[in-house]
Amino acid sequence: MERTLSIIKPDGVAKGIIGEIIKRFENDGLRISAIKMVYLTKKEAEGFYIVHKERPFYNSLTDFMSSGPIVVMVLEGNDAIRKNREIMGATNPKDADTGTIRRDFGTNVEKNTVHGSDSLESAAFEIDYFFKSLH
Ligand code: GDP
Repeated sequence: MERTLSIIKPDGVAKGIIGEIIKRFENDGLRISAIKMVYLTKKEAEGFYIVHKERPFYNSLTDFMSSGPIVVMVLEGNDAIRKNREIMGATNPKDADTGTIRRDFGTNVEKNTVHGSDSLESAAFEIDYFFKSLH
């Protein structure tokens, strides 16, 4: 059993597709073991994406992530990290496979609707960032 952090980003919440996204995770065997809606400050978005501090899109990304409410979830299941990223699709919606969340709902490489941890280490950091009591 593995845990991963999932976020429905501000564009996904604004589009009214929270239910649709959660249904896809549940239909694929991922269980939602924690969930909450939060509205990040710029500082909190910067803290979450600290690994991308040197990337050229860091400022724009953290502006976007603090532009409206997001839904933060812990997904649990066998191979949850890989499975979540498969359901999400590639970072750029243009490159994402048919039937993935990013392909179906993403606007561009930044406003790509969902976030998912990419390793055991990042899942631990990210779950802790939002749900300290789970550890
Ligand atoms: P992910 O693991 O698929 O989310 O991709 P990354 O870890 O590489 O990037 C984190 C997030 O930064 C992505 O989900 C996008 O929202 C954003 N992002 C990635 N690449 C770019 C880019 O080239 N330009 C902009 N503006 N945002 C990007």
